[in-house]
Parts: sequence; C-alpha cells; structure tokens
Amino acid sequence: MNIPLLPSPPLTPPLLCPACHTENDASAVFCYQCHKALGPFRFVQEEVLTSQYERLAERVAGFVGRPGFFVVHVTLIGFWVAVNIGVFVLMHQFDSYPFELLSFILSVEALFITGFLLFAQNREQAKAKKEAELEYEVNVRAFREIQATRTLLEQLGERLDRLESRLPSSTTPQKESSHE
Ligand SMILES: [Zn+2]
Repeated sequence: MNIPLLPSPPLTPPLLCPACHTENDASAVFCYQCHKALGPFRFVQEEVLTSQYERLAERVAGFVGRPGFFVVHVTLIGFWVAVNIGVFVLMHQFDSYPFELLSFILSVEALFITGFLLFAQNREQAKAKKEAELEYEVNVRAFREIQATRTLLEQLGERLDRLESRLPSSTTPQKESSHE
C-alpha cells in the first residue's frame, strides 16, 4: 500500500523584492533589506507605485507634525511683527498693523496644509486597510495549510488502522510469547 508522502519542497529561485529588488531566500516572508512583505500581494505592488505627489504629501504631513514646524512659524511671525511695528528702526515697515499680508499668507498656507494632511490621512487609512487585507490573506493561507495537514494525518491514521487490522492476530502478541 502506497502512503502518499508530503511533496518535498521544490528548489525555487531566490525571491526578488518588488520594492528594492534585493534577492531574498526562497523561504523568506519579508525582505531583509526594506522589510516589505514578499510575494504576489496587491499591497506590495501598490506600495511600489506611489506617485511623487503622494510622497510629497506624506513628507509635508510628516513635517507639520514635528516641533520644528512650530519653531519656524513662531520665529518667522515674530520677526514679521517685530519689523512691522518698528522694532528694527533701519528696516522698512511693509505690512502695518493688523498685518493683512501676513494673515493672507497664513490662510493660504493653512489651506494647502489642510489639503496635504487630509490626503496623507486618506493614504494612511488605505495603507492600514491593505495591511489588514494582507494579514487576513496570510491567515487564510495558514488555515488552509493546517486543514490540509490535518486531513493528511487523518488519512494516515485510517491507513494505519487498516494495516493493523490486516495483520494476523497471532503476530501481535508474538514478542510477549517469545519471552515466556
Ligand atoms: Zn526589499
């Protein structure tokens, strides 16, 4: 009786990372260079196809969240106000109180920053969704593998039972009787 054995893993070529094109071991799940998930997952492909505008939006959103952003603004606004209220006697006052030009520049800046932030936020959400999808996909694959292994074990058990029942009943206690 032939018991089917698990197929031995075939010799596969090294996995090429779609993001950084590094060669990884065939059994690798994540790239050792850039830590992206390897394999034909949609998430990886879409991650690679990020446009320049999207990357710019992410960079702007990243900078807005840093303390440097506030330091730069406080410094610039402070300097602007100081010049226009006549703190520096030698400098020409170009935007007297209530600083209409400054208000205009700040509102335009706020408009752009809001747009970039919303865009970056949407992208973050889409990314999290894709990561969840990837996780789900991996879980489903693992579940199927476990089920297949379980079925195989059950088949093996059944075959062993059948083999045991086919053995002549006298052979089983043979060892015990030989000691006597
Ligand atoms: Zn990589």
